[in-house]
This record gives sequence, C-alpha cells and structure tokens, in this order.
Amino acid sequence: MLEGKQGVVFGAANKNSLAWHIAQQAHNAGARVALAVANERFQERVAPLAEELAAPAPILCDVTSDQSIAAAFAELGRHMPRLDFLVHSIAFANKEDLERPFYQVSRDGFLLAQNVSAFSLVALARAAEPLLAPGASLLTLSYIGAVRSVPQYNVMGVAKAALEASVRYLAADLGPRGVRVNAISAGPIRTLSSAGIKGVRDMIDYQAQVNPLRRAIVGEDVGKAAVFLLSDYASGVTGDILYVDCGYHILGAYDVREG
Ligand code: NAD
Repeated sequence: MLEGKQGVVFGAANKNSLAWHIAQQAHNAGARVALAVANERFQERVAPLAEELAAPAPILCDVTSDQSIAAAFAELGRHMPRLDFLVHSIAFANKEDLERPFYQVSRDGFLLAQNVSAFSLVALARAAEPLLAPGASLLTLSYIGAVRSVPQYNVMGVAKAALEASVRYLAADLGPRGVRVNAISAGPIRTLSSAGIKGVRDMIDYQAQVNPLRRAIVGEDVGKAAVFLLSDYASGVTGDILYVDCGYHILGAYDVREG
C-alpha cells in the first residue's frame, strides 16, 4: 500500500511506542521510513529499531526547540528530499498535572502540554511543508479525552482538543496543495507515556470488557489504520479523526446484564 513512498515518523521511544508500530507497518507496506526521536537517550535506544527497518540512524528532534526542528529537517532532507508522509506521535504533560483535578492545573503545566502535544504538530507541518510531495499525508495521534472528560487525563485532554482542531485547520491550509492531514484517536495501550496516567491498566481491562469487539486495542491495530491513512487508499480523507479503539467511542452505555 505504500510501495514507492517515503516518510518520517516522530515519537518512537521503544518497541511499545505507537510510533514504532506505525513505522513497522509502513515499512511492511513497502515504504522507506526515517525515525525522529526526542533526545540522545532515545537515539541510542531506538538505533537498533531503525536498523530493523533499514532506516538511517534516528534523527534528533526536540519539538520544543525551533532550532532543533530546523536541524532535524536539514538532516532529514539529506536522506529524503521528498516526503510522502509525516507521522507525529508525540505528547507530554507533567505527571502532577495529570493527577490533580483539572481546575488546579498550573499555567506552566497547561502551556507545556499544549506546546509539546499540540503546537508541535503545527511546527512540524510548517517545517515539512517545502519537502511535502503532492498527495502527501500527515498523521497525528489523539485520544477520546479530547472530546469527553476522562479521569486522570485532564490537561492532556485539553491539549488533544487543540491537536484535533489543529488537524482541521492544517487540512484546510494544505488541502489545496493536495496534502492531507488526519488523526487516529487510539484506544488505551500500555506505553511509556500512558504509564504516566494513573489507573491506565484498569482502564484497558475495562474497555476490553465493554467495547464492541470485546478485546484490548493493540499497537498493530493502530499501525495498520495508519498505513491506510498514509496511503492513496485514503486519497479523499482529510481533516478527519479516525477512531481505532475497538468501537469503544460509539457506546452510550454498556450491557449491565453481562455483569
Ligand atoms: P510513547 O511514550 O512511546 O511516545 C511518546 C513520544 O513523545 C516519546 O517518544 C517521547 O520521546 C516523545 N516526546 C515527548 N516530548 C518530546 C519532545 N519535547 N520532543 C520530541 N518528542 C517528544 O507513548 P505513546 O503512547 O506511543 O504516545 C504516542 C502518541 O499516541 C501520543 O500523542 C499519545 O498521546 C498518543 N496516544 C496514546 C495512547 C495510548 O494509550 N498509549 C492512546 C491514544 C493516543
């Protein structure tokens, strides 16, 4: 589905990262993939994963720094002067801002979550723009906490709401160039980031019991849906949020007779 295409995936920290699942599936679908990581620690850890995909050494990119973003794209351009896709799989909030009630979030904590988790998509889209091929596809990762209140998600839910709105505005801006912008709203999966959300294991178990498919979502589900959105099979889809959560988001209630 991605034969002849090349692109970059931001946000792999380890084998559990959704970025890694997406990169793997994109590679399996025939794409040439480059990985970009937040810091030297992840660069070292992700290097063997990049090798598995015959990708260049992971590129450093701290999305809170314009300088780092510019340097990353200068390096990326040397490997890939044309980008058919870009995946943004990045989020961060202070643990204490996730745990305390939302109305107690600090100004700095609110802005940090917005900066790393939402503005970064805009910054990466802007930096990528000169390299984007006609028909290119940008993809980010969201969560149902953007549109519903979810316990312990708090400041991150508000950042995801900004992220989803950014998807729509970027899609409107870049659409006339033939560039599509979408998000996957994934169900809960154990990763480095989600481990910072208190009770995530119980949430995964609960959702697996009540969602229509009666199972937990896995990274491969997200990777495969990402391949679709990055591919020409999604040529008419832009500005959209695709739920990959075993159908959990459609529920108004669950069947209490099941106990
Ligand atoms: P993860 O921890 O593997 O990935 C998050 C990545 O963000 C890490 O690689 C981290 O290095 C990166 N990051 C943080 N600050 C950064 C910075 N300043 N510069 C560059 N990169 C930075 O966890 P994940 O669950 O794979 O998260 C990926 C995306 O998926 C996030 O946007 C997350 O909100 C979203 N998501 C996750 C779940 C889930 O349950 N795991 C569900 C829905 C959406």
